[in-house]
Amino acid sequence: MADFSYFAEQFDDIKILRYQVPAFERLTLREKFFVYYLSRAALAGRDILWDQNNRYNLEVRSVLEKILRDYSGDRECEEFKQFLVYAKKVFFANGVHHHYSMEKFVPLFSKEYFLALAQDSGISSPREEVMRLIFDADYMAKRVVQDEGVDLVTASANNYYVGVTQREAEEFYRLKPGEDEFVTRGLNSTLVKNADGRLEEQVWKVGGKYGPQLERVVAELQKAQEYACNETQRKGLELLIDYYRTGDLRLFDRYSIAWVKENEARVDYINGFIEVYGDPLAYKASWESVVEIVDEEACERTRKLADNALWFERNAPIDERFKKPEVVGVTARVVQAAMLGGDCHPATPIGINLPNAEWIRERCGSKSVTLDNITYAYDVVSLSSGVLDEFAASEEEKALVREYGSLGGNVHTDLHECLGHGSGRMLAGVGQEALRNYYSTIEETRADLFALYYIMDPKLIELGVIPSLDVAKSEYCNYIRNGLMVQLTRVRPGCNLEESHMRNRQLISSWVYEKGLVDNVIERVTRRGKTYFQIHDFRRLRLLFGKLLAEVQRVKSEGDFEGARNLVETYGVCVDTDLHQEVLARYERLHVAPYAGFINPSYRLVERDGRVVDVCVDYPADFLAQMLEYGEQF
Ligand code: ZN
Repeated sequence: MADFSYFAEQFDDIKILRYQVPAFERLTLREKFFVYYLSRAALAGRDILWDQNNRYNLEVRSVLEKILRDYSGDRECEEFKQFLVYAKKVFFANGVHHHYSMEKFVPLFSKEYFLALAQDSGISSPREEVMRLIFDADYMAKRVVQDEGVDLVTASANNYYVGVTQREAEEFYRLKPGEDEFVTRGLNSTLVKNADGRLEEQVWKVGGKYGPQLERVVAELQKAQEYACNETQRKGLELLIDYYRTGDLRLFDRYSIAWVKENEARVDYINGFIEVYGDPLAYKASWESVVEIVDEEACERTRKLADNALWFERNAPIDERFKKPEVVGVTARVVQAAMLGGDCHPATPIGINLPNAEWIRERCGSKSVTLDNITYAYDVVSLSSGVLDEFAASEEEKALVREYGSLGGNVHTDLHECLGHGSGRMLAGVGQEALRNYYSTIEETRADLFALYYIMDPKLIELGVIPSLDVAKSEYCNYIRNGLMVQLTRVRPGCNLEESHMRNRQLISSWVYEKGLVDNVIERVTRRGKTYFQIHDFRRLRLLFGKLLAEVQRVKSEGDFEGARNLVETYGVCVDTDLHQEVLARYERLHVAPYAGFINPSYRLVERDGRVVDVCVDYPADFLAQMLEYGEQF
């Protein structure tokens, strides 16, 4: 499939992409069946997420679906086109609020027009709440509110609490004397105030809230169970099914332990109420699912790195006191996503590290995966988006990145995830709370620097991880260009950097730029009013990464709060306003949507003479058609 098209369409600030699953073809028939049923389980819980995001989302969706299917009038006029964009945005966000900014979408068509569409499609009149949700901008304006000084629960438009205030919810979930601190709390229920004023949990389980959807998830998981890759995995599925049937969070914890211990299977999955970002109080988890196929070739790379973890630790350019005497428990894997569902679709993460329960992580470790077919699709599309041509400093740089950029990015991620975070140690008595709000930026900075320092090490060629140091050079170009310019496209004019990964990238890039000025390591060039950063000396740049790594490791190991604050505040927070404006203007002319999500592949059983003999994968190209199909099927 040489001419597979990764880009499907673009509307508003959203790009719709496609991804391939080449690893599927290398599976045994048994494993293919496993993927098939896990995929159906991944889609069967879709409606749960819509309802979690807002209590009227499913009603809005069914009106949109009916209009899209049955409207008989003009579909070419401007207003219908605006309706179409609105509908696609709602499908993309699994509801009426933007998936990233959390703000409610503003329809660019009138209420009257919408009513006419509905009537023509056989809906006599949508409910008042539905009309209000779509057209009244102040009503349920933001899905998750994080501002200080307001009641986060009542101000948020999500559906995790009904008639409950923030104080009441916090009191309800406060650990009481005698309660087990190791059981996850509140993760799988809606907290409701009932008629006589008492608080009550409506648990998400078969026979409870979301019962019909979970019944379907369970039915598919049961079929999947027959094809599990090994006994540990089969047992894990059994625990998950029991948990969905009872809603008992102790079973979920037992399941998570079984899941994290299973490391052999070629097919793995995530299915459950997992991440708590959708709840401002971080108790309630949204439903999500991913089906994964291990990419053995790419894992070969991470295995080589993991096997040599001790060599990397010993040779790191940091103080001997901060080095680990031994390195254990490196279990990062590279996988291909085979299906994305719930809160992982259409927008998806590119790396996942679970379980979230801190006590399980400490006792049993965690599993970390990177979804390399997803990053590959991003890379292909981004290379043709014009961004590289606009911001790269030279033709040589563009050529280098086109040839090696994708591999460079993957090796960087491998080094960051499977060695960087695990390297180094704290001095006795120092905990991560010492760095307080700067901890995550410092930790991401440290892992990135570890990757940047080692990606240019001849050891990687010796290990067969990279074919030449040009891979490292392309990664250096990408990193500096992104850290000093391109990532600013995601920041609104007049704002500074808040997100920790963005802070760490600017911290590193602007530190090495400043320290390298005397030797002209990186030169800031202006041509025809446009700014570029040209790297002149890759070897010196590597030494600067090493030098900063030593300092950042010291800050972490000693718990030096002032040191952390200095680095982050001086290099990682403030945006150069003029450069920011210039970058935004250059980016806008490229018409590139900043957010992206995916159309899923579709799997089909192949029958011959009444027997199922194979599973086929197709790659649909129509986003809206897939959304309508999911609405009918699940
Ligand atoms: Zn990280």
